[in-house]
Amino acid sequence: MSGMHAMRAVNTDVLIAGAGIGGLTAALSLHAMGIGVRIVEPVQVLRPVGVGINLLPHAVRELTELGLGEQLAATAVPAAEMVHYDRHGNRIWGEPRGLALGYHWPQYSIHRGALQMMLLDAVRERLGERAVVTGTSFVRCAEPEGQGQVLPVILRDLARGREHTVRVLALIGADGLYSTVRSRLHPGEGPPLWNGIRMWRGIAEWHPVLGGRTVAIAGSNAHAKLVFYPISREAEQRGRALLNWVAEVRFPVEHGGMSGQADWNRSGRLSDVLPYFAGWRIGDLDVPALFSATRRILEYPMVDREPLPWWGRGPVTLLGDAAHPMYPVGSNGGSQAVLDARVLARCLAVHDPDRVAGLRAYEELRREATSALVLANRGMPADRLLQVVAERAPEGFDRVDDVLTGEELAELDAAYRWTTGTDVAELNGRGSWGA
Ligand SMILES: Cc1cc2nc3c(=O)[nH]c(=O)nc-3n(C[C@H](O)[C@H](O)[C@H](O)COP(=O)(O)OP(=O)(O)OC[C@H]3O[C@@H](n4cnc5c(N)ncnc54)[C@H](O)[C@@H]3O)c2cc1C
Repeated sequence: MSGMHAMRAVNTDVLIAGAGIGGLTAALSLHAMGIGVRIVEPVQVLRPVGVGINLLPHAVRELTELGLGEQLAATAVPAAEMVHYDRHGNRIWGEPRGLALGYHWPQYSIHRGALQMMLLDAVRERLGERAVVTGTSFVRCAEPEGQGQVLPVILRDLARGREHTVRVLALIGADGLYSTVRSRLHPGEGPPLWNGIRMWRGIAEWHPVLGGRTVAIAGSNAHAKLVFYPISREAEQRGRALLNWVAEVRFPVEHGGMSGQADWNRSGRLSDVLPYFAGWRIGDLDVPALFSATRRILEYPMVDREPLPWWGRGPVTLLGDAAHPMYPVGSNGGSQAVLDARVLARCLAVHDPDRVAGLRAYEELRREATSALVLANRGMPADRLLQVVAERAPEGFDRVDDVLTGEELAELDAAYRWTTGTDVAELNGRGSWGA
């Protein structure tokens, strides 16, 4: 059966499971390439869930090329710098971010839910209201039909409790950490892997701290660490800051093994996190006061999964967290999902109408690069040096040169360059994935 004939037999060319950051960006990107696409999502009504995330310049470039640049600028805060402090607020190391580092695109700090809603609105506006089918989850695939080109996919309508089949040319599993598409392709994987770090997260409106556009990281993962940054341009325009914070505390891994508790919506308790940060003050930020003012604290264990030796087979593949869940360090969770989406659309367009060849080309370009990031994030190379600072100067320091040697500071610098981005000249100089 030729590609054209196969097209006539299908309900949609590409089906995406999951309307998260990755699935929605993939739908916009495929549509921009003239490829028919639909998304199924189990959540009945998508709401702006989550807290803050960072989008690296290479992801912001892709979203800008999708026509979302102005909306991002109106919603997100462009990060000016990322700075490390010890737990007493003494500055260890910092560097400019985004435009200030020379990229043509900013690094944005944004509410994950606001980003998801922005993408969802764009999908509905460009692809039509029926492009995202909510209340429906991917269940499994059946044997391919025709000459192997048409894939029957079984979906479940959750409200009616009924299964039905749609016929597609390609299936993209963008269904997150507990991906069903992944578990069908790679059965028996088990729960996500926990590294012993519990993370409490929250958002509170505050006064602007550290100049108002700083991504601040204090302490070390050896014990307790705090990351905070502002995520709302609207609050900034009112002279305020919507501060997103993540407090990380390491426990022995055997302590209550939290692998099965990775749920982005699980509530956490103030009384669990507060004791580890008693007396912390970073710049003019009173850390316990920030925690105490947070209306809803969430708790999430730091988990990932082993990199896969292959993502997909035939007309099926994975994208975003379904393909490569990684620790949320280095701003890569959302950013890599956006890149996957753009490369996927390009590969399908280049190999059109051979969907299987397009998917293999996509996996070829993305799998090794993202597996390397999963492993690099596990190593947390910068944290080793932050721990050294805590050991050598437990009561703080006046000059960082008294605590770290020049070589150690250079090592810290290199560790960050590797995990948080492509080379500035490379990104600025290369052609677009969307071209
Ligand atoms: C509710 C929620 C809140 C989050 N909050 C944060 C946060 O605060 N900070 C942070 O760093 N990261 C957060 N994340 C994770 C972050 O969005 C991802 O790491 C990153 O953006 C990659 O996105 P993704 O699209 O691959 O996966 P996700 O954003 O996880 O999206 C996956 C989507 O697939 C859907 N899905 C699940 N099962 C099926 C199925 N069987 N069929 C069809 N669809 C299915 C899910 O409902 C979800 O909408 C959150 C994820 C979710 C789902």
